Amino acid sequence: MSLEEIRQEAEAFLEELVEEEYKNRAGLKTKAGLSVIYEKYPRLASQSLFFELEGMAREGQGEEGKGIGFLKEFIAQNTLDSEVREITDRIFTWEATQLLEGEGRALSFRSAEVEIKNQGLRPMREAIEEARCQALREINPLLADYWKRVHEGALRLGFGNYTRMCQEHSGVKLFPLRDMVDGLLKGTQDVYGDLLRWFLKRELGVKLDQAQRHDLVYLFRAKGYDRVFLPTALVNGAERCLKRMRLDPEAGGRLSWDLEPRETKAARAFAASIRVPERIILVVRPGGGYDDYLAFFHELGHGLHYGYTDPDLPLEFRRLGDPSVAEVHAFTLEGLVRERGWLRYFLDFPDSKDFLRLAYLHKLYLVRRYAAKLHYELILHDGGSLEEKRGVYREVLTRATMAEYPEELYLYDVDPYFYTGRYLRAWLFEAQLKRYLYEHFDEEWFRNDRTGPFLKGLWRDGQRYTLEELASNLGLEELSIDPLIQEIGQYLG
Ligand SMILES: [Zn+2]
Repeated sequence: MSLEEIRQEAEAFLEELVEEEYKNRAGLKTKAGLSVIYEKYPRLASQSLFFELEGMAREGQGEEGKGIGFLKEFIAQNTLDSEVREITDRIFTWEATQLLEGEGRALSFRSAEVEIKNQGLRPMREAIEEARCQALREINPLLADYWKRVHEGALRLGFGNYTRMCQEHSGVKLFPLRDMVDGLLKGTQDVYGDLLRWFLKRELGVKLDQAQRHDLVYLFRAKGYDRVFLPTALVNGAERCLKRMRLDPEAGGRLSWDLEPRETKAARAFAASIRVPERIILVVRPGGGYDDYLAFFHELGHGLHYGYTDPDLPLEFRRLGDPSVAEVHAFTLEGLVRERGWLRYFLDFPDSKDFLRLAYLHKLYLVRRYAAKLHYELILHDGGSLEEKRGVYREVLTRATMAEYPEELYLYDVDPYFYTGRYLRAWLFEAQLKRYLYEHFDEEWFRNDRTGPFLKGLWRDGQRYTLEELASNLGLEELSIDPLIQEIGQYLG
């Protein structure tokens, strides 16, 4: 296949695939039909094409060579994803249809986490968590099969193991990254423990040494602030802010917003990039509250990034490449919800000191959780028996978050292809970019009409540049944990 043929076929394939995922996760269709789409495009999931691209990548120079590298990564992942396509369909369908029994009424699996977030009564939360774990015990053998086959697929592509495959393609050195974020875990251990102890006691009446995962989920839902984060103010606040920065909330008609509540809609908001940049859908299950605002702005960041991507870039720079870059744009918009000035100006919330401590504790929880996940996932994919990884998951996640994590999540709470590392890198970079925004566009950069054109300039490049290239283009320093620790420390110290 020529490069042009690969691009065209991959474009058509991704459009169908994302559309199908969108329908399933948006609750428009419960039976997932991804397999059929993979079967329509067998060439994109063939080892021979992968090896062909390997040859091309060796000869490719400069930007073209980089693009071929991105295509090669895509074909490798697609080959693996295609091998487990039927399992993925079964898992997706299961997620969309599985009901949990409890309190005399059936609760959908996808609604369970939302229910936990909103459940102030601890025994009730515990019961839902237990029902969710029970359901996971049933699906775990299927998930184990999924991971076994993915690991074998990496070997067939000529890599010593899955981790090495991911590392080589992404260029992200996972072990040094793990060591770097280890420093973050150590450096924030005390402040995290002290504040978590204090908030758990005040908000939930729960002692730190008895904290469970579901307690943290409920705590960081920050229900006490619902009067600030009204469902009705969300869309309006976002639109006003974007217009203030001279940004079109619909990215010239390419980004549409699906805000309709549906029971089978996934709890987590998402941006479906069906065609980049022409057809992007922002899917949110609205309910109001801090937590919904975060998810909404995160996905809005993704949506705007895709919607403003230069349509003339080749596929590999529009849709493939370093997803850390996409996460940076999402985190930047998500960060609005943790900006004192934004809260005051767009939500009429002047006295946000106490809230911001909780919000930054939440951010620290997330970063620590992902640092632990990276640790765990490196062990999960080390070639040893999967069965033995249950206990490791519970131990590593519990230690970092200081709340008991159920081991049943050990195969479900895993991001494919070490996406966990992409998030971590994005958090580190976001803290640097935020400083840049403060310096160049003022502390209230979100009210500055020069910010929009600057962001559009970044979004235009899609994922053409890696984080390292982006940092050097903007004159930022190498990735390190210091700016993030300082940012969090400002609010928690
Ligand atoms: Zn994201």
